Amino acid sequence: MKFIVDHNVGKLVKWLRMMGYDTLFFTGDDDWQMIITALNEGRVILTRDTEIMRRGVIASGRLRAVLIQSDKPEEQMRQVVETLDLDCESGLFTLCLECNTPLVEIEKKQVKERVPPFVFKTQDEYKECPSCRRVYWKGTHWQEMNRKLEELRQG
Ligand SMILES: [Zn+2]
Repeated sequence: MKFIVDHNVGKLVKWLRMMGYDTLFFTGDDDWQMIITALNEGRVILTRDTEIMRRGVIASGRLRAVLIQSDKPEEQMRQVVETLDLDCESGLFTLCLECNTPLVEIEKKQVKERVPPFVFKTQDEYKECPSCRRVYWKGTHWQEMNRKLEELRQG
């Protein structure tokens, strides 16, 4: 399952990428552009905009969209996970949170100059985004998000 996230629920972008779901962030003004991209690329739309839900292509069920109810990011994520029965586990830590590119494993010695010394000392597993070159490790930010996903899973 792939997603396109409307600008009014932007917090969902990083959550979904963290879970390994290919996710685009739509920041334009023209809803049709988002709908066309969703149709062309087979993406589910996530939005808080009831206008979009009334469009023929969505109302008829040809294109799937989820109307997000809450304005709280964690509630929003819970709704998406439950409505679409998402897998919170198997894709974790596989996509770049910034640019949606699949991460590749990278050897520890290659990141020595690129991560803070305390991270290098304590972490052995690293991944890199081949597109923006960002280095990922399972540090505190990751653990925090993972803990929240855990809570979502347990309801
Ligand atoms: Zn990247």
